[in-house]
Amino acid sequence: VTATEQSVHVPEVDEDGAEWWEGLERDEIQFSRCMSCGQTSFPPIPGCPHCGSTELASERSAGGGSVYSWVVIHVALDPSFASEVPYTVVAVDLDEGARIVGRLRDESQRSVLRGGARAAAEVYRIDGQALLGYRLVEGR
Ligand SMILES: [Zn+2]
Repeated sequence: VTATEQSVHVPEVDEDGAEWWEGLERDEIQFSRCMSCGQTSFPPIPGCPHCGSTELASERSAGGGSVYSWVVIHVALDPSFASEVPYTVVAVDLDEGARIVGRLRDESQRSVLRGGARAAAEVYRIDGQALLGYRLVEGR
């Protein structure tokens, strides 16, 4: 762990998100599936964004998905990220349907990013805090 990585702040854990962070600690990427309409959603919220049902079940993603979009962060909003820029954040549509955002783990892959590119989730840790990242993978 480098000095730079130690300065990265830990995201706030709210009540609905606590289960998500606890799952991530176990290398589990969780999303919600509605028991009423079957749609998946993320982040964890009390009601289904599609139909309003509160009958939601937590499911675990296998971690594979396709790139939906990405943004390159050039100016860190948080001073603790200032030494890290530029870095890339990607939004990935998991194969199970939920769209989850994470940091691109290998910045050298930025130049080959494209919509629909295959990505694999990778849980990494900074100061013991589990965080979600992605790597582009070959295939399909
Ligand atoms: Zn629903």
